[in-house]
Amino acid sequence: MSLECDVLVVGGGPAGASAACRLARHGVDVVVVEKRRFPREKTCGDGLTPRSVKALTDLGMSDELDGWHRVRGLRAYGGGHVLELEWPEHPVFPSYGTVVTRAELDMAIAERARKEGARMLEEVEATEPAAGSGLVGAVRLKPKGDAIFELRPRFVIVADGSLSRFGRALGNERDRRYPLGMAIRGYFDSPESDDDYIESHLDIRDRDGRALPGYGWIFPEGDGTVNVGIGLLSTFREWKGVNTSHLMEAFTHMAPAHWGIDPEAGRSVRGGKLPMGLSVRPRVGPNWLVVGDAAGAINPFNGEGIAYALETSEVAAELVAEALHSNDGSVLYRYGAILDDRYASYYRAARAFVRLIGEPRVMKVLTAVGMRSRPLMSFVLRVMANLLAPELRRPDEVLYRVAEKLVALGPEP
Ligand SMILES: Cc1cc2nc3c(=O)[nH]c(=O)nc-3n(C[C@H](O)[C@H](O)[C@H](O)COP(=O)(O)OP(=O)(O)OC[C@H]3O[C@@H](n4cnc5c(N)ncnc54)[C@H](O)[C@@H]3O)c2cc1C
Repeated sequence: MSLECDVLVVGGGPAGASAACRLARHGVDVVVVEKRRFPREKTCGDGLTPRSVKALTDLGMSDELDGWHRVRGLRAYGGGHVLELEWPEHPVFPSYGTVVTRAELDMAIAERARKEGARMLEEVEATEPAAGSGLVGAVRLKPKGDAIFELRPRFVIVADGSLSRFGRALGNERDRRYPLGMAIRGYFDSPESDDDYIESHLDIRDRDGRALPGYGWIFPEGDGTVNVGIGLLSTFREWKGVNTSHLMEAFTHMAPAHWGIDPEAGRSVRGGKLPMGLSVRPRVGPNWLVVGDAAGAINPFNGEGIAYALETSEVAAELVAEALHSNDGSVLYRYGAILDDRYASYYRAARAFVRLIGEPRVMKVLTAVGMRSRPLMSFVLRVMANLLAPELRRPDEVLYRVAEKLVALGPEP
């Protein structure tokens, strides 16, 4: 059997489902294939910053957002200090974040796409693309327990997540000079799950008390559980020898007592990789675009990926809609320039930063100094969550831009 459609989206996570939702609104015949069935678990910290909230609001999901657990800021532990930092007032982004399980979030976005008219095929895996001269022709689709069939899309959006087997079959590769994150998380019961701060711990140590670059988190879900996790960066020289399960165990034992966590009672403790800094190339071919984790779009400063999955897929969906409307596939090649314009400078600064903190002693000094100053840490929070004002308003933002320019003058981080 061979079917046709305007656009095939491979992967129904936030990137794929939101792209399909936007295309369906343009009246495009769009098919999403998702190899699992919703609601499905996805290994994640479940934390949505104001940037993610804005992207979901733009997608028309305010009603869903109203039902999810709101958080007003970040409680940071480090260097013997604790600081509660509110999300900043901002002309574009809201001053709150949320925490919601990925089972719920991803199903909600997929539902939204379906309501808009996207054809959402669950438990269907896109196997290998037939890509002569880079152009994706027929795609073989494998429904669970059923016969393989072929789909002939005019355009393909590759949104198959961090492993991106489909993307790799198209020749995409992660630039190994870019940082990669490695993180593990689990769910724990907690009487404090309605706390309105997410929490991060900057003094991470292994079993031998060695300081490590990365952070531990406790994100309250508002439903009797908390998401507890720990993330590390590949810029740390010895990261290959690190056992994240041991780190997780050490971290749950040092978690502040008020959370009431039983370290032995974690559920769904799983890890994953975080490709960062838009590290995957090429991002575009004659009739395809790569979005979200498949494009390595995670913010190296803080490991946030949902906002960037939603944002990159918005750009991709608009370009594909325009290509269909104008019958001109070359429109797609604007994708790289648009992403570079939006993110290249910020991500370059982020890469320089994570290279710096890859040295545990530097991380220790920065934490010890930074955590003594609330204004400094408020600024760090705005930088790391990419919430600086669009126009330079404050002296600290001007300073950030100066640092950003200096990084751009230096060697490739
Ligand atoms: C431990 C951990 C903690 C994290 N914490 C946070 C956090 O707190 N906040 C945050 O913003 N980000 C966090 N991230 C990053 C975030 O999870 C990702 O950036 C985000 O999921 C990217 O969305 P996506 O749609 O690109 O990919 P995914 O969410 O991975 O979706 C890809 C989908 O494609 C499907 N798929 C794959 N291959 C195929 C195929 N061949 N055919 C059909 N379907 C396919 C998969 O089943 C999956 O549903 C974390 C990541 C990890 C690993």
